[in-house]
Amino acid sequence: MAETVTERYRKTRPGSWASWQRACRVIPGGITHDSRYLTPFPLYVTRAEGPRKWDVDGHEYVDYFGGHGALFLGHAHPTLVEAISRQVARGTHYGACHDLEVEWAEWIARLVPSAELVRFTMSGTEATHLAIRLARAATGRPKLVKFTGHFHGWADGVSAAVNPPYEIPMSAGIPGAVLADVLVTPHNDIGALERLLGSRDDVGAVILEPSGGQAGSDPIHHGFLKDLRQLATDRKVVLIFDEVITGFRYAPGGAQEYYGITPDLTTLAKIVAGGLPGAAVCGKRELVGRMAFGDDAKWNRTQRVAQNGTYNSNPLSAAAGIAMLSQIADGKHHATANARGAGLRAGIAEVFRTAGVPCQVYGDVSIFHVSLEGPPGGGKPKNPALYHTWRCALILHGVDMSAHHGWVSAVHGEREIEETIAAVRRAVADLQAEGAL
Ligand code: PMP
Repeated sequence: MAETVTERYRKTRPGSWASWQRACRVIPGGITHDSRYLTPFPLYVTRAEGPRKWDVDGHEYVDYFGGHGALFLGHAHPTLVEAISRQVARGTHYGACHDLEVEWAEWIARLVPSAELVRFTMSGTEATHLAIRLARAATGRPKLVKFTGHFHGWADGVSAAVNPPYEIPMSAGIPGAVLADVLVTPHNDIGALERLLGSRDDVGAVILEPSGGQAGSDPIHHGFLKDLRQLATDRKVVLIFDEVITGFRYAPGGAQEYYGITPDLTTLAKIVAGGLPGAAVCGKRELVGRMAFGDDAKWNRTQRVAQNGTYNSNPLSAAAGIAMLSQIADGKHHATANARGAGLRAGIAEVFRTAGVPCQVYGDVSIFHVSLEGPPGGGKPKNPALYHTWRCALILHGVDMSAHHGWVSAVHGEREIEETIAAVRRAVADLQAEGAL
């Protein structure tokens, strides 16, 4: 009998196996991000350049992790390498204000329609945390509305209803009192949200991924976004777009430019910092401005929104952010990345159709999503074993992507797209051969 995908994976990746064994002795489960969980063991990478990366066993891959969506210009883009190298030699932390953080904020304000004022954090998780704090402080209302399946980082306050079954939070260890402040409702159903708000007067904010839950895996209708904007305005609830994924990718001004709908607050990460750690909250002056110190000591102590963070807007991340945003501002790179994304989606769809498998590929702009088990959405738990085998099969054929999505960069060329479609064809055949599909 022919070797299974998992057997071939084990046999051909001894270096990754050895690294993982070593990791397991000091790191729980051997991984440092839940999305790197892969059976039988994860891949260890040594180098990356442009749209490609190489593992410890010397195998080459077309990469669709794209730094979890941050690397819109691919790995080690020369302009970014130059900007970061120049800055590293000039100091990585001044413990003081500096002009690079001002320039970085100016770029964000120029590009993102809602951005009147900008404040930096180091991660998307911190950015959503700060945005929610700003909304609660401004409204004096504690409750947050979030949508089923939407991801806003790993903080306690947004851990409700991320993955099905939605009544179980995404992690153990989250206090019931925190979960009690989160009201959950499905997206694309404005009536459900209206009923939830009902006569309540304790809701301060509604947060969402504007493209739909989990990077748009469960897409949102444009009409729902419009109705939501109106409802939030009518009810004086702060509307927060979590643009950690969509920011600078859907358009230079993010999903809010793409859909033509402006939120009150926006969270940004990933592309905003050019592939280095960094994130931001931006939005209306009256909201973000609550962080500024004033002359009234009592207001400062009781009304002002406080935030610290050792590495906020450090000069290295700022230099990378400026180098990224200044290059992508005119939208030319978006045209390239979107065209590659469309070509890839069409090619993979054709493979699935020809093979007669129930898999689907879909997505917008330069993102593609894969559902191996029929139409997306619906809150059904997925069959993890199938996705692990799928990932291993793709890796065997020279493609590394998350089991459910891929991020196409502006430096993925026609060659990478063709290679990827061929790899998907072989992976589907492998899964069919062992009866997984
Ligand atoms: N919001 C969204 C929509 C995200 O996709 C992510 C991360 N993928 C986060 C927030 C959290 O960002 P970070 O990983 O930088 O904390």
